[in-house]
Amino acid sequence: MATVLAGVIPRPHAPVEVRELPEPELEPDSALLEVALSEVCGTDVHLQQGRLEGVPYPLIPGHVSVGRLSKIRGRLLDITGRPFAEGDRVTFLDVHRTCNACWHCLVAKATTRCPRRKVYGITYGLADGLAGGWAQKLYLKPETRCIRLGDVDFEKFMAGGCALPTALHAVERAGVELGDTVLVLGSGPVGLSVIIFALMRGALRVLCIGAPERRLEAARQVGAAATLNVETSDEETRVRWVLEHTEGRGADVTIEATGAPIAVVQAMRYTRDAGRVCVVGQYTDHGEVSLNPHHDLNRKHLDVRGCWGSDFSHFYRGVRIMADPARSEAWSLLKLDRYKLGEANEALADVAAGKVTKALIAPQA
Ligand SMILES: [Zn+2]
Ligand SMILES: [Zn+2]
Repeated sequence: MATVLAGVIPRPHAPVEVRELPEPELEPDSALLEVALSEVCGTDVHLQQGRLEGVPYPLIPGHVSVGRLSKIRGRLLDITGRPFAEGDRVTFLDVHRTCNACWHCLVAKATTRCPRRKVYGITYGLADGLAGGWAQKLYLKPETRCIRLGDVDFEKFMAGGCALPTALHAVERAGVELGDTVLVLGSGPVGLSVIIFALMRGALRVLCIGAPERRLEAARQVGAAATLNVETSDEETRVRWVLEHTEGRGADVTIEATGAPIAVVQAMRYTRDAGRVCVVGQYTDHGEVSLNPHHDLNRKHLDVRGCWGSDFSHFYRGVRIMADPARSEAWSLLKLDRYKLGEANEALADVAAGKVTKALIAPQA
């Protein structure tokens, strides 16, 4: 029987184990992906630390991945109706089974809140099969939406990785307009992709407050006009810095991508009157925070929005942008660190410590 090596988180707080698992039988209209690269993001750190709700441990992490279709049973079609063939280079929408039949999908048109949606590597566990990217092969269940990568470089695509659809969604949701000054809080993978997309969408200048210095350097490389280290500045300094860079008014748009609850209030305070705030970094529950509704919200006439998950449209457009050499150039400036399956624990530790800009898992290595 053919077997597959996979990295498994057995339960919260337990280290990743490399296990040998049987290669699955394919259901009709499903496929196997030979994983070239998957990634280690903040979500994986949260998974290992047991910070996400509804996770069916044990699980194989790795929600966004790229590779070649190594086996197809039945038909696998792209959104134009064209069939995929074995050997095709693809990625796939990690969100599966959005139902298009519930109140969230049909009435609210908020498909990222569909209660039936499942996410590979997050809410699909080992019991659901080889449903995570930290594995030599990944099982693409029927109705998984694959996207052709054509000749898009695997590494360059993964430099954006899961941050790509998230950041694209956040920039859209924030309503960035031509000539805006955009402030990005956070310089992790999502923050960096937000900087690139905000400029692409017509921001005149993007400012970034984040840490550590290595990531701020990356922020400047991908186009941030100015950066400030959150770890070595106090709140008074940060407010003054934002005002100095915005003619004393505050940012037109602030996008929060940090994960720290206090950053949500800071985002409101750093934004100009009648400006816009988009919160995308609060993916896990890090607790409560207090604010002054009169000063921070009402009197400022602020527009504050949350941004949850991403759908096929964000993913698809992210891939298309990556296929454009000029538009995707900024991502090739990001430094990548590759880890083998057996080095997944090291990768998690490095991501948790902010030691790396972008960590990739190379399961075939
Ligand atoms: Zn991720
Ligand atoms: Zn639904």
